[in-house]
Amino acid sequence: MKKTLYVLCTSLALGLMCIFFALEIKADDGDLDDTAVFFWREKEAEVPIIMYHLVTEKQKYLGKYGITPAELEADLHYLKDNGYKTVVMADLIDFVQSGKKLPKKPIVLTFDDGNVGDFDYVLPLLERYKMKAVFSVIGEAADKYTLEREKHPKAKYPNLTWGEIKIMHDSGWCEIQSHGYNLHGRNGAGIRRNECADAYYNRLYEDLHTLQKRCHEEIGFTPTTFTYPLGVISKGSREVLEELGFVASLSCQEGMNLLKQGDRHCLFRLNRVNRPSGKPIKFLLDKIEK
Ligand SMILES: [Zn+2]
Repeated sequence: MKKTLYVLCTSLALGLMCIFFALEIKADDGDLDDTAVFFWREKEAEVPIIMYHLVTEKQKYLGKYGITPAELEADLHYLKDNGYKTVVMADLIDFVQSGKKLPKKPIVLTFDDGNVGDFDYVLPLLERYKMKAVFSVIGEAADKYTLEREKHPKAKYPNLTWGEIKIMHDSGWCEIQSHGYNLHGRNGAGIRRNECADAYYNRLYEDLHTLQKRCHEEIGFTPTTFTYPLGVISKGSREVLEELGFVASLSCQEGMNLLKQGDRHCLFRLNRVNRPSGKPIKFLLDKIEK
């Protein structure tokens, strides 16, 4: 009887070891997978988020918010050589909400405003380097330039049309998120002087809801993340975001992000580091990874 029990226990232990070993191999064989997170895995992850704006060949736009395609390519090259893996908001959300694994050195690349350089330069580079990025588009600009494109099919416009946004979304390398429908004025999504809380709530709700609807109609995807225009954040905006189903937001505050599984609050007001012309990504990462 004792011997049978001993054999049984040993077999069970060996069996369990084999299962865990197999799952560990599976968990380590790729960048992202559906393997459940086990109790000994990291429950927290440090994630740097880089903020880009314009990618352009035009010298006059280079500076704090404009870099050349060659500068972007150098950044992607650096990330590849140094073992970073690009992830998008869906990956961060899955990590926090469902415990889905993140790669060892995750990084998020974000591009604001929906400039046409996103289509002309960023998409081809992402495809070449097999990297992903997040694009926060302005709804009103997309509507305006889509109409213009219909009138003048061959003309070039400064902002993306819905047709271009759809191609980017369908490529699998681009995650489209919200920069508001028409909030890119001086005060961004901030409360206005003399605006009461209710009026602010309704105005912000209406604006964000319009872009959510337009994205759903045009690309079949409803954004999960709001990128605060100009980084202006007012009290009361989070309530609107949550009411509309947003589960994350991006700020312009510099710093590293610490994501914790099960803590949905950590996905709001995520920090980002701006990438100006002349300061390669290594410089930015060195600054926030200390
Ligand atoms: Zn912006």
